[in-house]
Amino acid sequence: MKKLFRFLVWLAVVLVIIIVVKTLLFKSLQQDFSSPEPVVFGDESVNRLSEAVKFPTISYAVDSPVDTAAFMGYMEFLGDKYPLVHSKLKREVINGLSMLYTWEGSNRSAGALVLMAHYDVVPPGDTALWEKGPFSGYNDGTYIWGRGTLDDKAAMISVLEATEKLLSEGFTPERTVYLSFGHDEEISGVRGAGTIAATLRERGVKVDFVLDEGMAVTKGMVPMIKKPVALIGTSEKGYISVRLSCGMPGGHSSTPEKESALTLIAGAVDRLNKNQMKPQLSGPVNDFIRYVGPEMPFYAKVIFANKWLFKKLLLGIYTGSASGNALVRTTTAPTIISSGVKDNVIPVTAGAVVNFRILPGQNSGDVLDHVKRTVNDERIIIEPAEDFINEPAPFSPSNTTGFRAIFKTIREIYPEAVVAPTLTLSASDSRHFSQVTNNIYRFAPLMMTSEDMARVHGLNERTMIADYLRGISFYYRLLKNSQ
Ligand SMILES: [Zn+2]
Repeated sequence: MKKLFRFLVWLAVVLVIIIVVKTLLFKSLQQDFSSPEPVVFGDESVNRLSEAVKFPTISYAVDSPVDTAAFMGYMEFLGDKYPLVHSKLKREVINGLSMLYTWEGSNRSAGALVLMAHYDVVPPGDTALWEKGPFSGYNDGTYIWGRGTLDDKAAMISVLEATEKLLSEGFTPERTVYLSFGHDEEISGVRGAGTIAATLRERGVKVDFVLDEGMAVTKGMVPMIKKPVALIGTSEKGYISVRLSCGMPGGHSSTPEKESALTLIAGAVDRLNKNQMKPQLSGPVNDFIRYVGPEMPFYAKVIFANKWLFKKLLLGIYTGSASGNALVRTTTAPTIISSGVKDNVIPVTAGAVVNFRILPGQNSGDVLDHVKRTVNDERIIIEPAEDFINEPAPFSPSNTTGFRAIFKTIREIYPEAVVAPTLTLSASDSRHFSQVTNNIYRFAPLMMTSEDMARVHGLNERTMIADYLRGISFYYRLLKNSQ
């Protein structure tokens, strides 16, 4: 007994030593770079974003008509405002409304860089509820207001501002730079970015890396870190909706059978909700932990530095909140349920739709298997609810030239921020580019609080002028740092 006790004490001591050593070796991955000469972007750059917002380039739904005049007007506006871009770069119009610019590099053998953005926006909702008109581009001295000031015209205009400036300075990139600007990101991006990516693939273009929207410099959004955290998306979750349907004899509600189509579907939805897919630490989230963990207070660092021991605890912490849960799990969200016509008639059919966002490392087949296993009732038909299923995007590593260039540029422009790779929860146009490269990064130079987040696709979208100008410098430096 005594021996066993002594053994356990020793074991505990060894364990504590390992934990402490691992924590001490869990070193910061943040590097410092000397600040570059600041480049000044002023009122004219601000006015051009204001004007860009005035074109109501709205995407409504797949196959629904768009205000072509607004899209064409916007394209013409770009031609007017960015004369050097339009005389020195080759512009191709893809599917009528998307644009691909080629900035030929001096070194033909170097892989290309693709900077992406989209200029369609979601509908504004009830315009009367906006403090300033959604297509006013109103400048109140601190903010520019309107649809697209966060998602995603600001990024597109910033890329063009930076490119125009570099051209005016006689800069020629070493690697070829493509600017890919889509017109239908909000409704799948198939005609825009999808076609541009396919075009590059057909031409055999060697792409070194892609940068698109997705994540930002967040403020107060990463628990236990006071500093801003600039997040770079290195994969994005997949998407599948599954339809459950069932037909059963109905009857009068005065003499109900034990089961009906409705009760079967309700039970199936309940089982799916109670038995969700298991949480896991995917590649991008493991990287996130490596980069943010060392910046945390000691007690948290102990857990993050010792994943081998505290993995369960870590997953428990993540699954405790809705946003954390989404980072570590294929989420299950019942979104539609339908059955019944009259209060005293037992319905003969019932159906439900459940939306899943798929974690990298799993796929739509795994989700369907999980649904079949969990529902476990042959009377219920299970099938994908829509044509479009997105598999999770491939995991882009953080040891590439592209990642390093983005990392360095963020640290130069936002030296106060911690930089970390992570998993993007929403979809972006960049997924179409997985046919040309494995190195796809999702970051737009925006400063975001959770309050700003709600403005994206919500009311009162606006961007702080100072942040927008900083964003232009980000692309300006990135183009230099990527050479
Ligand atoms: Zn967007």
